[in-house]
Amino acid sequence: MKKFIFKPHLSVYFLLAVIIPSFALSFLAVRSVEREEAYLKKQLEDTLRAEVGHITSLINGLLKQLNTELDQTVSLPHHDYNQIAFQWKRRSSFIETPFVLSPQKDIIFPNTSYRLGPKENFFLRWNTAFFKDQESIPVYENIAVAYKDEILNQNTLAANSQMWQSSTQNSSYQIINDIEDQYAQSQFEQYSPLREKVYQQAESKGQKIVYRKVNLPPKGGKNSFSKSFSGKGEKASPPPLESIFISQSRKFSEIITGEDAGIFPRILDGRLRLFFWKKETEGYISGCVIDQDRLVEKIIKLLPDVYSKVRILTILDENGNPLITPHQESQRDWRSPFVAGEISQVLPHWEVVAYLTNPQEIISKANSTAMLVWLLISLLLISIVLGSILILRSLFSEIRLAQQKTTFATNVSHELKTPLTSISMFAEMLRQKREITEQKRRQYLDIILSETERLNRLINNVLDFTKIGQKKKRYTMKKIDIVQLCRQVTEGQRIRLEYKGFTVTLRAQTEPLYIHADEEAIKQVLVNLLSNAEKYSADTKVIDINIETDNYSVLIKVEDKGIGISASNARKIFEAFYRVDDSLTARTRGTGLGLTIARQIIREHQGDISCIPGEDGSMFQIQLPLQKDLP
Ligand code: ADP
Repeated sequence: MKKFIFKPHLSVYFLLAVIIPSFALSFLAVRSVEREEAYLKKQLEDTLRAEVGHITSLINGLLKQLNTELDQTVSLPHHDYNQIAFQWKRRSSFIETPFVLSPQKDIIFPNTSYRLGPKENFFLRWNTAFFKDQESIPVYENIAVAYKDEILNQNTLAANSQMWQSSTQNSSYQIINDIEDQYAQSQFEQYSPLREKVYQQAESKGQKIVYRKVNLPPKGGKNSFSKSFSGKGEKASPPPLESIFISQSRKFSEIITGEDAGIFPRILDGRLRLFFWKKETEGYISGCVIDQDRLVEKIIKLLPDVYSKVRILTILDENGNPLITPHQESQRDWRSPFVAGEISQVLPHWEVVAYLTNPQEIISKANSTAMLVWLLISLLLISIVLGSILILRSLFSEIRLAQQKTTFATNVSHELKTPLTSISMFAEMLRQKREITEQKRRQYLDIILSETERLNRLINNVLDFTKIGQKKKRYTMKKIDIVQLCRQVTEGQRIRLEYKGFTVTLRAQTEPLYIHADEEAIKQVLVNLLSNAEKYSADTKVIDINIETDNYSVLIKVEDKGIGISASNARKIFEAFYRVDDSLTARTRGTGLGLTIARQIIREHQGDISCIPGEDGSMFQIQLPLQKDLP
């Protein structure tokens, strides 16, 4: 048989047409899920940022209102300073400790000649030196506003900035200023090289960069979302974030230069306090310490619901502690919000912050979507790969069958030709040689007879195969003594086999063993097995036939010491046209049909035939049901 040729180009086509596109599509699907996830996260972030921005501007509005309210309330009394507290406090609830400074910046009120409460004492202890310019405090400033000109004058931004101004030229100065401030801040936040430059500039002028108290999730980057919330990404602590506010040490006189009134923050005893001051006639200054609790109360009122299904919104104070929290939130890391926004230079370090209510849920949602997509893709890929394997296998087996059929046709023609040649040659010799010995004549006739039998067998095989395939083979069933039949077949083959050097042994009981069978068909199977044993034997020419019984069935074992059969081929040799693909088998001619037909016949007799590979040679075993009770 011709060697089956594996065609690699088929697999290559398959790989190009099916597997690679499938993998590419899967990759794209996963990418799009990741993008969708990033997009959703961005949307959530934008929404929360807008909310935070809104609250920031509400608080700034409140601070402005506070400034106006205090400006209208705080005024230098003309008579009894003692009345100040009473008068001012009646008009504004934000006033905690009122004060009046002399033109020399001495504290006129409160002072020790009045009855002092603990708050007044505290005020005097901490501020006497400060108002006299003997101490300086950090004063905060929005860097984008302080360096607005530098930011707007950047070449790249000049065009934009002009456009901005021209579109707002009819508005009042204040509004242009505000919009310009906002614009400068947005430019500053957007362009990191610009930001670095401005920070450097500020530092070179002795201003200090303030660092924020919060860490924010890193922007962009694959899976940054999941990492920053699952806690896994926290090993390397992130660098501190620079605040939009810078600070500079200033004395009181410097703070009030160029302004008529204002509010400045001061951290005293670890707590932020706001001071309102206002210039009065003749160098007097009146002012007050703002009631922080009242301010906080007002700010909290500006907040919408702190707790929602999606986010928790609150404000962090100068120490990074939330002003208000929902009951169930005690364990949260308040320093790591999802979105945060600084508020004002008057409230340094204060931030409006938003946290995801249940970040784990969002991660697990994202993960489960990703898992689902992966699962579907894996299933798809597995089914594509399995399908491909099945298709390729059936394709290859079709190709193999086609090749086997071609080989079969070649083999059959050769098998037909060889005996025909011998028959015609010996018949011719008989006709021509007149003086031929009786022995020679017999020998020639024997050869002619055996070749005719071989021819007959071959043709029968081909015909049988077709009939069996079409289920047309008819059997004449009758009671047969299988021991006798085996003996008959063996004896029929013995002369020829022994002539070729074989030792043939039949071991069987003497009593008959009956089966219900077609005699010719069973004979055909036995002859085929003996003929195979002959064909596939090399130097050791031994054939053993054993008949055994277990009272239910009869076992006929035909054993040889020939080239043998590997375990992997033991089943395949029963397939149509299959011939073992090795040099030993190739030496003999055959159609690959004998065992196929044998198995078909035996199975149609409710039995089975199998090949048991041995260490040397092979053994074929036929099992047929025993028929004891048949007449
Ligand atoms: P054929 O002998 O015409 O090729 P068969 O169907 O009878 O067809 O056998 C199929 C194949 O099984 C053979 O080609 C051979 O490779 C193997 N085979 C059959 N019988 C034997 C045996 N006794 N020893 C070794 N190989 C065998």
